[in-house]
Amino acid sequence: MEKTRITVAHGDGIGPEIMAATLRILAAADARLELETIEVGKAVYERGFTSGIAPDAWESIHRTGVLLKGPITTPQGGGYKSLNVTLRKSLGLYANVRPCVAYAPFVKTRHPKMDVVIVRENEEDLYGGIEHRQTDECVQCLKLITRPGCERIARFAFEYARAHGRKAVTTFTKDNIMKLTDGLFHKVVDEVALQYSDIKNSHMIIDIGAARLADTPEQFDVVLTSNLYGDIVSDIAAQVAGSVGLAPSANIGASGAMFEAIHGSAPDIAGKDIANPGGLLLAAVMMLVHIGQPDVAAKIQNAWLRTIEDGIHTGDIYVEGQSAELVGTTAFADAVISRLGQLPEVLTPVAYAAVSNPAQTASLVREDRAPALPKELVGVDVFFHWRGDKPATLAQHLQLTDGDGLRLTMISNRGLTVWPNAASDAFLADHWRCRFEASTPTGRVTHQQIIRLLSRIADAGYDFIKTENLCTFDGVPGYALGQGQ
Ligand code: NAD
Repeated sequence: MEKTRITVAHGDGIGPEIMAATLRILAAADARLELETIEVGKAVYERGFTSGIAPDAWESIHRTGVLLKGPITTPQGGGYKSLNVTLRKSLGLYANVRPCVAYAPFVKTRHPKMDVVIVRENEEDLYGGIEHRQTDECVQCLKLITRPGCERIARFAFEYARAHGRKAVTTFTKDNIMKLTDGLFHKVVDEVALQYSDIKNSHMIIDIGAARLADTPEQFDVVLTSNLYGDIVSDIAAQVAGSVGLAPSANIGASGAMFEAIHGSAPDIAGKDIANPGGLLLAAVMMLVHIGQPDVAAKIQNAWLRTIEDGIHTGDIYVEGQSAELVGTTAFADAVISRLGQLPEVLTPVAYAAVSNPAQTASLVREDRAPALPKELVGVDVFFHWRGDKPATLAQHLQLTDGDGLRLTMISNRGLTVWPNAASDAFLADHWRCRFEASTPTGRVTHQQIIRLLSRIADAGYDFIKTENLCTFDGVPGYALGQGQ
């Protein structure tokens, strides 16, 4: 049968050891693979490629469309970018899938029935890397959520649930506070869910959701959330299931995919042949399902389950008196290889069917996108670097720039409305948001009116640092009120 070409990066720290173990198991299980090995990570950073990857390695990844990657060490400080974030963004790997499963009673956990898959949006949110220092005292990170981004990940989660026999998707957001950004995520998930009546759709505010996930993970099936929340809750879920050393991670896009363990390069145990290769091995199992070798995937995972069940354990999950044998990385791989073809007797054996890539089914074509809505410009928020502490003084001065269809209506500091009607003794930073709204009969303003306002403000000697236009979309305000407004 035809072999699939994949790109392999061994990574740093324990990466080479766990990758060697994984590749030996893949070969022994007759995985139909043609490997292209590339170098990424520390050595590449040290050769001066601040992205951690060289051009010829990119070429391989783009050609094969599948990367099996060991963990890499991100050098601290300096201009180094996270290679993981670069890979996800450059390859359009918009969905991150992290199954977190308990293997009780063989791996210690308080939640023996846990079997949760975290689906995390992988490209947007606060991970856009758009950060600015705005004043002496204030820095800002932009949280960007797009409708197409939400639609794709929502469709992915429901397609994934359907393809993998899952029954329920629970979405975590904080839309009681971030009504526009998290509100959009929640709203779009609810819209998309209507097309999947066979899958139960529910929502939880992220704080109580995360608490329940840590306390009663058995009640969850698929958890869908945005980038930052997903990063955090998937580590919690993996740890609660038993060990971060066991959890795999798949980063999937319409035309590429990257598979890795969720843990890092573990420099504290590198080179000692004691690391658990389980996370990377289970990532390779996800890869085999993805590339259409579900038979080999099941053979490997069942042999691995049997090994765990037989009490052959690496140090991170070994329990004196309960485990049968403490082994290192190499011996663990040997134990899995000797069980290829066997099934677990207590744990449930896995069986995989060929599934189409949910990221392809979920991807949007241009025609899928919602039409542009009628949009009207109704004002502007102007942000200032100002060291004063009397909002009324700032208001008095800025009101002198009123006119020409725009007038000052509100000032806030760190989101809290401080003018008019400031009744707070909150600490005031040097970062001020001043809202100017249309005073025209139509309630609309033009870009030229805003430019003339900024010009008057500059002439008055005020240091404005950025503006945000206030628009309505189909008559609905596309901006939040000030806290307390
Ligand atoms: P880590 O996940 O490497 O290690 C955390 C702890 O878990 C350590 O005590 C380690 O010994 C243990 N551990 C991790 N994997 C294990 C395994 N397979 N078997 C047994 N024990 C295991 O996290 P860290 O120490 O915070 O990070 C180390 C480096 O890894 C950093 O440079 C970080 O940037 C990088 N990192 C890379 C990735 C990735 O490549 N995907 C992910 C996370 C961290």
